[in-house]
Amino acid sequence: MVTVGVLALQGGFAEHLGLLKRAADHLSIGREQQLAVRLTEVRTPEQLATCDALILPGGESTTLSLVAAQSGLLEPLREFVKVAKKPVWGTCAGLILLCEEASATKRGGQELIGGLDVKVHRNHFGRQLQSFVQDVDLPFLGQGETEKQAPFPAVFIRAPVVDQMLHQADAPGRAIEILARYPSNGEGDDIVALRQGNVFGTSFHPELTDDVRIHVWWLNQVIKARRED
Ligand code: GLN
Repeated sequence: MVTVGVLALQGGFAEHLGLLKRAADHLSIGREQQLAVRLTEVRTPEQLATCDALILPGGESTTLSLVAAQSGLLEPLREFVKVAKKPVWGTCAGLILLCEEASATKRGGQELIGGLDVKVHRNHFGRQLQSFVQDVDLPFLGQGETEKQAPFPAVFIRAPVVDQMLHQADAPGRAIEILARYPSNGEGDDIVALRQGNVFGTSFHPELTDDVRIHVWWLNQVIKARRED
């Protein structure tokens, strides 16, 4: 049994759970294992302790970290990500929380969980009104397959980008994999998907699409990590 949690304090947790449910039907490891995936909402340290992996949804990162602090979850989350090194995936505001540094906000600093040795630029594309959907190439989805993957319809809503690597990223075993840039024609410098060890992040919102491919890919990574445990 693999228990996958979704942090359910604020933001798009219900949408992630919906896509995870659908993704569990698409896993490449056969029917027996599919049944062994348990999905759960996480609002308390006790619920987090039952999880083998966690999604941090989009929403508003300052609010998310305030509510996490009030719920006594900040330290357990840091422990989950950085000490236990369990698989985590942050989307948009969730990605911001998983970065070691974020660009200053009007109200000054915000508590982050960390785990990715990068600095993230919040609200990079502007305000809510400047939200957009953009096809992005995600070659990592097609690893091991000969056919080229169709681009992913990436939903950007007040999205962050990763624009700076921190020096810790040079340490042995801390390599950062840049999985997608925007725009995806190779000219863009803005990193919109990346992975460092157990921590995966996307600037955009796959849970707001019908496209289940990233959820399937991530669940397969989670199951692989669990088997190697
Ligand atoms: N801009 C938001 C923040 O800083 C994130 C937006 C989102 O998750 N859609 O938290």
